[in-house]
Amino acid sequence: MRGLATAIAMVLVTVGNAGAANITQDNVAKTQAVIAAVVEAYGGAEKLDGLDTLIVEASTINSAVNQSRRPEPPWDQNEGEIVNAIDLENGVFVNHNSGNGAGFEFHGGQIINGEDSYQLDFRAGTAAPIAEPDFDTTSGPFVRVTPVLLVKQLQERGNTSHYLGEVQHDGRAHDVITLVMRVGPALSLYVDKETHLLTHSERLLAPFGLVEYSFEDYYQVNGIPMNKRFRLLVNGDDNLDWKYTSIKVNESLATLAAVPANLQRIAAVTPDALSLNEVSDGVYLVGGTGTYAMFVEMEDHIVAIGGTAGIPDRIAELRKMVGDKPIRYGVISHHHNDHVLGVPAYITEGATILTVEAHEATLRGAAGDAGEPTFEFVENSTVLTDGERRVEIHDIGPTPHTEHLLVAYLPEEGILFEADHIARPRTGPLPPAISNSRALDAAIEERGMVVTTIVGAHSPRVIAMGELQAALSRKTEARVAQQ
Ligand SMILES: [Zn+2]
Repeated sequence: MRGLATAIAMVLVTVGNAGAANITQDNVAKTQAVIAAVVEAYGGAEKLDGLDTLIVEASTINSAVNQSRRPEPPWDQNEGEIVNAIDLENGVFVNHNSGNGAGFEFHGGQIINGEDSYQLDFRAGTAAPIAEPDFDTTSGPFVRVTPVLLVKQLQERGNTSHYLGEVQHDGRAHDVITLVMRVGPALSLYVDKETHLLTHSERLLAPFGLVEYSFEDYYQVNGIPMNKRFRLLVNGDDNLDWKYTSIKVNESLATLAAVPANLQRIAAVTPDALSLNEVSDGVYLVGGTGTYAMFVEMEDHIVAIGGTAGIPDRIAELRKMVGDKPIRYGVISHHHNDHVLGVPAYITEGATILTVEAHEATLRGAAGDAGEPTFEFVENSTVLTDGERRVEIHDIGPTPHTEHLLVAYLPEEGILFEADHIARPRTGPLPPAISNSRALDAAIEERGMVVTTIVGAHSPRVIAMGELQAALSRKTEARVAQQ
């Protein structure tokens, strides 16, 4: 014990001797000085303490980087509208978003309010309870894009911040400090040395890379500086451009946090764990948390369809059923960045990658260090068979989503696998068909496919052809009603 006491005393002496020259003390002092100036610039501690709610509306443009109809720039520009509302006092967050892009029409939202939390789908006319609402995770993206909320985070959590240095940004001198929020990697906040306003922030976010946030065109709302424009860049490329149309401070969220009376209450959305569903004899839909692949068992091999996240885990799950039969083909539906993640896994399995020639460069890029892919290009359609079972791969493009889209059709079983062409809520009725669904339906008709069951790349929900037909006619009804 005496030895330990002496050791502690020596450490204290060492720190004491270092005094103000200690790197940590210096850094903390600098950081706190920057934070104090920022708090002043945003109206002062009292004003910020009194900011309990914020409701903002914006028009948005999204550059569909690696999510456009073509695999290379220029990227498609998708327009939309958003509402974000937060009540910090009561831990309530509401988000609405509407718009269209890539053949999707959407109008949805979320209410995070403890036990009264809901997923809203205004097109489907439904409200599904959220079984495990998480205020910090759901409101985090809004806080990160809203300077005044970042400043409130600094007030609350500034003791975790560090001073990174002084840099020139857009021709002006800035101090850069870190902010560690409850969820996600640390942010670097750029504070203008003259105005003490946040003009820029950034963080490294796997697997995307460098995400930059730009806060532009400041003006005053209730004595608090607010930016009229927000931009987000990913690895230097424009990704989001928002123009705020309305900012309200300290107005009640009561109306926004209530489920609209005209929405039908449907079954709760529960977490979606990794699962295997044998859709038909030897046909497996395997996945979880929004990414799924279909595996078809042939005489002496497996055909894998879909390349979304987590393919190695899905293959491991499949192996429990089919043993060590080799995967001979990996079919990649299209070039979008969330659908090519399985390419390295299929190369590792020794599978031939089935794609279209137009997507070759994207898929080579996706291979990483898994090695050289072996490709087989589909022109219009191809048939994989072991003499008994038949798997047809069709390129049904162009669709509003992409110029080429591979779907898998099992004529014997009446099963179709599609990616991104049906809006498939986890529970409740399907919303009125999106443009992509109309293109898919037309392709089914044109190619004389007799489909009874449709599985998808983003949902565990297997739908009957009748449900798609109902969604298609809902669209028609809505159009008639509008005329
Ligand atoms: Zn897509």
